[in-house]
Amino acid sequence: MADLGSDLAGELSRLDGRPYGFYKDLRGRTYGLGALRLRFEHVQGDPFAAPSRLRADIPIPGLPERACRSPEARRATADFVHRAVIRELAGARRKTGSGKSGLLEILPVGQHVLERTAVRLGQDGGLRFRLTAGLPAAGRRILGREAAALLTGRLPQALDRVLTRLDRPQLARHVQTVEDQLALRRQLSAHGLVAFVAEGSSLPRHSGAEDRPLDGAIPLEVPPALACELEAPHAGLLRGLGVRAGVTLIAGGGYHGKSTLLAALAQGVYDHIPGDGRERCVSVPGAVSIRAEDGRAVRGVDLRPFITALPLGRRTDRFDTDDASGSTSQAAAIVEALEVGATALLIDEDTAATNFMIRDARMRRLVPDDKEPITPYLDRVRQLWEERGVSSILVVGGAGDYLDVADWVIHLDEYRPHDVTARAKDIAAALPQAGPQSAGSWPPAADRLPDPRSLDPSRGRRAERVRGVKTRTIEFGTEEIEVSLLAQLVDPAQCRMIGDILLACARGLCDGRRSLTDIIELIETRVEHDGLEVLTQSGFGDRARARRFEIAAALNRLRSLRLMPQSKTMS
Ligand code: ADP
Ligand code: MG
Repeated sequence: MADLGSDLAGELSRLDGRPYGFYKDLRGRTYGLGALRLRFEHVQGDPFAAPSRLRADIPIPGLPERACRSPEARRATADFVHRAVIRELAGARRKTGSGKSGLLEILPVGQHVLERTAVRLGQDGGLRFRLTAGLPAAGRRILGREAAALLTGRLPQALDRVLTRLDRPQLARHVQTVEDQLALRRQLSAHGLVAFVAEGSSLPRHSGAEDRPLDGAIPLEVPPALACELEAPHAGLLRGLGVRAGVTLIAGGGYHGKSTLLAALAQGVYDHIPGDGRERCVSVPGAVSIRAEDGRAVRGVDLRPFITALPLGRRTDRFDTDDASGSTSQAAAIVEALEVGATALLIDEDTAATNFMIRDARMRRLVPDDKEPITPYLDRVRQLWEERGVSSILVVGGAGDYLDVADWVIHLDEYRPHDVTARAKDIAAALPQAGPQSAGSWPPAADRLPDPRSLDPSRGRRAERVRGVKTRTIEFGTEEIEVSLLAQLVDPAQCRMIGDILLACARGLCDGRRSLTDIIELIETRVEHDGLEVLTQSGFGDRARARRFEIAAALNRLRSLRLMPQSKTMS
């Protein structure tokens, strides 16, 4: 490499005592430090600013072949190394001067094994780390010796220690656990399943705010009627709860673990670390959690499958609102999820709009059908499965009408599942209710083409200002996109990636000709083909891969979004 400097320590001692701004000399430079190459991606302007971003490459880290053999193995290995770096740096937290001087950090992680930009393992076996460092200063004077100690001492030593002390058996287990989850997930469809939870899994979480497993949880037991067996390449034959394709109800008394099971199934689209309790709980990649979210904006969504003939002749084929109701928001969420390829919908009565889910005989009598705009989910759920192959997994504690439309009914009793399908059918026959009404054919949806002029990332004097805030909001220009209710958005780093993608949309990905589905497809292929970095802003170690559903969900919640006036084709 032409610009590879070898004397970073010398460079830093030359800067010693100078004003902080001289650190900028390092920007874009790469230095060789033994086996490591250190690049300054971004240099902070002062000691209190966001810390500087560094990239450290170790071309030959000496990892075992099995740790690098596939994209999935590389993702798992990178995750394992990432966690080791976190532990190593946590032990070496040191502040040496003003502001963020001397801080050395890498992105924190949770229970999921996501593709992240913080640690990347290349096909060639090379490791790339993206860290942040507070370049040391006293007041606003560069502390060159401290900087040298940090960048040519602590940093390379920490990475070296991580690699030389890497626990190889644990690494193998980490990779195997991820490979098993992938293999299980890939087998689901062939077995007619949408989800699988191995017996012994531990599903409840420590608390609503804490994703670690709950201590003392009752491990999942699976009765013969609900059991199926899947072969995992490493763990071998696994027996577990098979949630079959079609319409599944999870019934049971309050506090018997229904929502916990459904939440675990929602998380089964992701891989979990060993010891999480959900590392043998998988669901199809097209599983999408659906809920009511009143107050959100909806832009040009065809709600006709569920909502027609609103008061005052308001159109529902391109429904627009700044303030959706519970039922319209839930209807929109379903149509939007189907638009980008959902294959299973997960709905919990706790967070659903009752009038969207059911409409019982008495209400049908009181309010005539032609005065009720809502076709309840009950009337569409079978059609979704039979005509469109979309499964539903529904937590239902109260709405017995659903017994008529269910293929399978699981009863949770003190956290233990039982198959009560036959009994449910007997009860439905013995106590007939109005049941589902014929809802008519599913209206074909037109493509939605986002209007690029409606994507404005500017704020004040800044042409582009986009950032993710925890898993709560994505700030896009002057707007805050509310994403806190997306149950399958699990990591703040995913939020940041979505922010980058929205920016890429504003920069031309969205061109007025591409439909929302086209855009999502394009993003997916690009990331699949060229890696996460192609669409994220370069040099950041705090991005993680988000699913197509959550990317679309963020775009769909952008209040400023407008669609092109002409829809392309009817599909
Ligand atoms: P439901 O939706 O049926 O009302 P939840 O899923 O909300 O019930 O569970 C109620 C409580 O039981 C929660 O605090 C949850 O953490 C706990 N819980 C769920 N599953 C288990 C389990 N297998 N072992 C121990 N506690 C559990
Ligand atoms: Mg519940």
